[in-house]
Amino acid sequence: MTVSTSERPLFAGGCLCGAVRWQASAGPRVVHHCHCSMCRRWTGSGFATLVWFSRSDLSWDGAAPALFRSSPIAVRSHCGRCGTPLALAYDGRSDIALAVGTLDDPAAVTPRHHYGVEGRLPWVDIDKDLPGKETRERW
Ligand SMILES: [Zn+2]
Ligand SMILES: [Zn+2]
Repeated sequence: MTVSTSERPLFAGGCLCGAVRWQASAGPRVVHHCHCSMCRRWTGSGFATLVWFSRSDLSWDGAAPALFRSSPIAVRSHCGRCGTPLALAYDGRSDIALAVGTLDDPAAVTPRHHYGVEGRLPWVDIDKDLPGKETRERW
């Protein structure tokens, strides 16, 4: 089967084992690093980099992601088979964040700010020139 370039999704990704796939029909609204303790636990890493798409632009393929309510206002999802962190969504919001490492081409996006800067680890010295916001804004 041949797929022309124009039919290929602009942004697509999936988990480590390939059971869960996603694709977005339009580019991200926002890309940023998050240093909050919840993202740290969720990703098992020093910080998360999140890529926000409109929910209406995003579609899922393959296995349904496993859902975990991580706070009274947010649900996170991961692959139920391999555990890859996939998405973060706040209740009632029209956007959803995908973990940058799930993108097939993570270099296609560029983080524009830091979030949760009060939780930033001393050795995380990435993108120091970008603006920072504190977690309590709860945007
Ligand atoms: Zn998987
Ligand atoms: Zn976070």
